[in-house]
Amino acid sequence: MMTTTTHNLASLGEFGFIARLRQKLRDQAGRADVVLAIGDDCSACTLPAGELLLTSTDLLIENIHFRRDWTSLYALGRKSAAVNLSDIAAMGGTPRYLHLGLGLPQDLVLDELDAFCDGFLDECRAAGALLCGGDTCRSQTGMFISVSVQGTIPADQLVRRSGGQPGDRLYVSGTLGDSALALHLLQQGQTPPAALARRHHQPTPRLALGRALAAAGLAHAMIDLSDGLLADLGHILQQSQLAACLDPAALPLSVDVRRHLNHKPEDLDVVLRGGEDYELLFSAPPEAAPRLEQLAVRLALPLTAIGSLQPGEGLWLCRPDGSRQPVEARGFNHFQSGQPA
Ligand code: ADP
Ligand code: MG
Repeated sequence: MMTTTTHNLASLGEFGFIARLRQKLRDQAGRADVVLAIGDDCSACTLPAGELLLTSTDLLIENIHFRRDWTSLYALGRKSAAVNLSDIAAMGGTPRYLHLGLGLPQDLVLDELDAFCDGFLDECRAAGALLCGGDTCRSQTGMFISVSVQGTIPADQLVRRSGGQPGDRLYVSGTLGDSALALHLLQQGQTPPAALARRHHQPTPRLALGRALAAAGLAHAMIDLSDGLLADLGHILQQSQLAACLDPAALPLSVDVRRHLNHKPEDLDVVLRGGEDYELLFSAPPEAAPRLEQLAVRLALPLTAIGSLQPGEGLWLCRPDGSRQPVEARGFNHFQSGQPA
């Protein structure tokens, strides 16, 4: 009798992989909003009447965005979904459907592939969103992960980068720089503290916050922090045609980042320019402050005022002693920095 063992992607094959994925999605097969998911030429999904369709795509490339010796494939799966869901959060939307394009080396072992898929699907489930399709190809040089996410939002609630008003306060959720510091330490051959490593490898999309801000009309402009605080604030400033003052002393920092900066204050730049926090940066009028405080309590997520929007052009670090230092709205840029990961 012939026995077959399936240890890697080559022995499983493209269609074996798709069948395996469908098995993993069994529990979500009956979703009323999905007419067709994996298995036909297109997925067919329904949208709430009168809402806008939000769509965003992100590409993750091995040794550019991640290194397999630094992350588990489960965390990578979660992160691949999370960074896309974060874009829906940044518009104030509700995430619904994801599509997953994969370029995979054929020697990828099945346990690793399963871990990746489990991570991806767990992150989708946590967001109430469903993987509805994708494409799978062989890659000769590492993993390629292309994710598209779709969400919806009532048209009058859309929060754009361009909506900032002079006099708005700038707020940020959570803490800043954890992910960038973890990456910085990894690049120096050090082991980052576990809490920082987790923030880098498994970020949390701030979906409940984005949705709540949009539904209550509290945020004028919003963006998720993927390229670094200064760069992403720069996008709001450019599109809102405004200037901003940031108080570096007000930046919300975790215990680990604070401890690191006590020893190496020069690494403040890692916090200001480092990417991948996946927190939300938004502007809100001063009168929104009490409601934002209530929201922070309800979501158990700190919302910290870190500066303000002003008429004009430019970005300054403004210290409580009244000094102003101009800074460039620049962060990580793929085509300028040759750095992997
Ligand atoms: P087609 O030849 O029409 O592109 P495929 O054979 O590539 O179809 O895919 C078959 C089905 O499996 C499709 O419904 C497709 O959306 C789904 N699929 C393929 N790869 C993936 C993936 N990585 N994630 C989710 N669904 C996938
Ligand atoms: Mg295909």
